[in-house]
Amino acid sequence: MKYSIPLYFLLLTLLFLISCSPQEKIIVNTKIIRDTVYISDINPKYQVITEAVLPDYVISKKNFPSVAFNNRIKFLVLHYTVADYPTSVRILAQKGRVSSHYLISAQPNDTIDILVSEDKRAWHAGVSSWNGTENLNDTSIGIEIVNDGYISIKDSMIFTPFPEYQIKKVATLAKNIIDRYEIEPVNVIGHSDIAPLRKQDPGPMFPWEQLYTEYNIGAWYDEFDKQYFLAQYIPDVYPYNSALDFQKALQNYGYKIALTDNWDKDTELIIRAFQWHFRPEKADGIVDAETWAILHALNKKYRANNK
Ligand SMILES: [Zn+2]
Repeated sequence: MKYSIPLYFLLLTLLFLISCSPQEKIIVNTKIIRDTVYISDINPKYQVITEAVLPDYVISKKNFPSVAFNNRIKFLVLHYTVADYPTSVRILAQKGRVSSHYLISAQPNDTIDILVSEDKRAWHAGVSSWNGTENLNDTSIGIEIVNDGYISIKDSMIFTPFPEYQIKKVATLAKNIIDRYEIEPVNVIGHSDIAPLRKQDPGPMFPWEQLYTEYNIGAWYDEFDKQYFLAQYIPDVYPYNSALDFQKALQNYGYKIALTDNWDKDTELIIRAFQWHFRPEKADGIVDAETWAILHALNKKYRANNK
């Protein structure tokens, strides 16, 4: 088919207009409460804007807020301090390379301290990894909980319990952070999950299950799934006794682990970190039927699309 030149341009212009018109215009109603605080109908919570202030130009909010964004914060990491409150403050607030965003004391009526603004990077995670993301200081909020940690008696580690009022404070703060940054359940983790070869906190006394059942915080397996996998488990039979398969399952859930196909020391420490979080009654780094079933139940629930 042969077009005359003007018709050709007309068709080209039409095509251009069609391809450029937005398919569906999204209108977001925004109400600026103060210069830097606003609410919008897509997120009706108070939000703070950090913006440039220029002497010669006005920063317009005509197109604000764009709906094309997500949060830089992806993880919430929980710690214990292994020190009393004054020592914890001294360590976390002083000049140096250790800090956290929040500190929760062990006294019922104390306030919760903010040590580092949430939009800044606190140094609480160190060398760390979770589900392929390294250096979690860049993308996490850190909460330090005042707690004595553990004492070693012979080969046992005796951990300090957390009082109920302290857990309530942790849960209230955690819930608020999780909601604001839309942190996924699997990304609410302990320091020992992201650095299992060198960290023990918050330890097996930290009530992850209670946080899940009472406050809907973090990840937990479904009992039905656990029973399903328990019924399948056959000790000493491949693949149930395969170190490689278990290492792969740990890696799939988020733990950084070398796939050595050996029950080596590092694997033992990573299994122990997993047990501290999900099977605290048995934190010896050795896989039993329940540990195996719990890990597979978690992967089924949260990590089915991870491979
Ligand atoms: Zn820690």
